[in-house]
Amino acid sequence: MENFFHQSPTRVHFGEGAVSKLAGEIAALGIKHPLIVLGRSSAKKTGAYDDTISALKRLGLMWEELWGVRPNPTLGKVLEGVEIARRAGCDSVIAVGGGSVIDTAKTIAAGVFLKDVWAAFDRNGGSRLIKKALPIVVVLTLSGTGSETNATAVITNEQTGDKWNIGSPHIVPKVTIMEPKYQIGLPPKLTATGAADAISHILENSLGAEGHEPTMFVNVAVIENIIKAAGILVRKPEEVSWRKSLMWDAALAFGLGRLSGLGVRGDWLAHAIEHAISGINPDIAHGEGLAVIQPAVLKMRMEENGELPILKRLAGVLGLKSAQEVPEALWEIFAGWGLATSLKELGITEDMWETIYQKAVAFRGTTRAFGEVKREQVFKVLGYATR
Ligand SMILES: [Zn+2]
Repeated sequence: MENFFHQSPTRVHFGEGAVSKLAGEIAALGIKHPLIVLGRSSAKKTGAYDDTISALKRLGLMWEELWGVRPNPTLGKVLEGVEIARRAGCDSVIAVGGGSVIDTAKTIAAGVFLKDVWAAFDRNGGSRLIKKALPIVVVLTLSGTGSETNATAVITNEQTGDKWNIGSPHIVPKVTIMEPKYQIGLPPKLTATGAADAISHILENSLGAEGHEPTMFVNVAVIENIIKAAGILVRKPEEVSWRKSLMWDAALAFGLGRLSGLGVRGDWLAHAIEHAISGINPDIAHGEGLAVIQPAVLKMRMEENGELPILKRLAGVLGLKSAQEVPEALWEIFAGWGLATSLKELGITEDMWETIYQKAVAFRGTTRAFGEVKREQVFKVLGYATR
């Protein structure tokens, strides 16, 4: 088992009626003038926006709003939020949305204290520039990234096409409201991309050497449950009990102080490659890019390292003969959810491979589990993913 640091300071209210705790939490944090960060329109349809506003009104507070955060959120939107927060003197940021909105909110919260926001994304320790951030509150409307309880935010610089991340204890949300009613009836595609992302997070976190036995046991159980939950929800989006189950699975996958990766060497090559791909084409959903790339990475890793412990366990749970069958089985599951499982479907062609390799190594040139990332490895993955 590897050494690790663990801290999971987010207060989570989970379940039906959780949003009734929002006003009390805002008051307890001493928030007087928040900036609310939102996506395009779904927060209005689900009631998450109205519930947030009524909590603020009950407390007699003023607030600002930043609308229009899109999937694969951009630096431009972050800078717009930083500008509003500075001008209005906001003392906090409330994210009403899923991963893209939360990541934008986190970056704004840190960004108001930074001269150059993008400098914090520098691959050589830029996150160390983050010395403080405004307190962040999350009203979650889409599960998948785990951003609602973790220390990471991913943003695309639309000028350069670089999709990079920051990681800092200062941007961990103080409070997260996990209210299932906001996710009832989510379009199947969003459920599927969130679920594929969460599965990838567990695999990335625990692909290395065998870690703490119970952690690996839980990780495989969480993947099994995500597969079950998403399989049901893409057909019956209103199944509340499975919706709740998937909400918590996503947090277990890559939140709560990164529980799924403690004591294990992580890989994160699939994310490096996927970020390169959706950096080039922001219309590709993160989870869908991973549905194509993650199984291909597993194939390449096993070719070089033999059957990996977590995949052996997963094979058992999925009823497969060996870990070698896991990549194909995952592609089949993702296809059953309506996701792409080949780079061809995403419009990624061989002439882009060199750029993808360059961007992937700029993002993560070495992985803890497997060391230096080599060109032939990335090309092999892209080859497997062009099915
Ligand atoms: Zn991800």
